[in-house]
Amino acid sequence: MKLAERADRIKPSPTLAITAKANAMRAEGIDVISFGAGEPDFDTPDYIKEAAVAAIHEGFTKYTPASGTDELKQAVVEKLLNDNGLSYEKADICVSCGAKHSLYNLAQVLFEKGDEVIVPAPYWVSYPAIVLLADAVPVIVDTKEENGFKMTPAELEEAVTDRTRGVIINSPSNPTGAAYTRDDLREIGEIVKKHKLAVISDDIYEKIIYDGVSFVTMAQLDDELKACSFVVNGVSKAYSMTGWRIGYAAGPRQVIAAVSKLQSQNTSNPASISQKAALAALQGDQAPTEIMVKEFHKRRDVIVDALNGMPGVKCRKPEGAFYVFPNVSGLYGMAGEDHRVSDSASLTSYLLDVARVAVIPGADFGNDNHIRLSYATSMENIEQGLKRIKEAIGALRPA
Ligand SMILES: *Cc1c(COP(=O)(O)O)cnc(C)c1O
Repeated sequence: MKLAERADRIKPSPTLAITAKANAMRAEGIDVISFGAGEPDFDTPDYIKEAAVAAIHEGFTKYTPASGTDELKQAVVEKLLNDNGLSYEKADICVSCGAKHSLYNLAQVLFEKGDEVIVPAPYWVSYPAIVLLADAVPVIVDTKEENGFKMTPAELEEAVTDRTRGVIINSPSNPTGAAYTRDDLREIGEIVKKHKLAVISDDIYEKIIYDGVSFVTMAQLDDELKACSFVVNGVSKAYSMTGWRIGYAAGPRQVIAAVSKLQSQNTSNPASISQKAALAALQGDQAPTEIMVKEFHKRRDVIVDALNGMPGVKCRKPEGAFYVFPNVSGLYGMAGEDHRVSDSASLTSYLLDVARVAVIPGADFGNDNHIRLSYATSMENIEQGLKRIKEAIGALRPA
């Protein structure tokens, strides 16, 4: 049957492909250590689960308003005020089926054919796809490792044309873990104002940040930036709730109303039970998040040190999220065990076959000199996996 052109415009998620191959090897009895996870390895805290169970028993199992319940929107309003100093009202909030859904819906109502949207690389794999599905063009801006993988104001200015409508900022970043400072954002904000761009700020890793770095989002900087910015966040990463599918967008009311209208004609409301759980997460004990972040911090330090001890590998210490993005281009041109390593994909397949370790090629995130390792896995797996990687890399010889 003929497919719409739209269906061919995008590719399936590459991270899922690696995970599928690693799972197939496991099914054959091969013990594979995966650094591929895009979600915390912690369980959803009990008080959150209990809120969901209570919602089921109370019969809170029917449609809610399409853009989310009033009580959850109010909790989001309070979260944005208390954590971020941002003042919104319920009408400025739309609760969606995950932050990804918020990003998708925003792109659908903001962008159209002929529009350009700036996506700094390395980027989260879904951004270009989300822009393409809105019929717009993702304009990739390559950031530099020596700038900490942060887009500079000059790089942004250079990429802007008279068709540029928006820019996507993700801090801390997946895949690099890089976090923008207030000063970084202030400088970028000047270019945003000059060209009247919309800013979509994906703040999903807000809570996963280390070394006393403070999280900042564009809308906090001044009223003019708040008026053109969309804060996208959710409970997936901060509360280990990826499967519950609750995210939200906050921003200029007229756009949020359009997002809510769109949502009312496709998904309708996010699951009523998940909304009760997200409410508990936002209002409840934040200690489980702190414990998780402490553990991620320890793992980050172990993984960064170990990678920097490997010949041909250089790893920047990320400020947040749960990924490292080492530069492995020093290994390109080497070979071992019937594998020639010439780019991030060939290194990834060498590591999977020889080290029995799954990582994600940087090419999927728009930078072929790197690979991504997630440390959302146990310390034991991390130590064992790094040992295997070190051995496999040590066995490479100039081709
Ligand atoms: C995990 C992730 C999301 C998705 O969040 P959901 O709320 O689960 O949809 C969004 N952005 C980035 C950068 C992510 O890594």
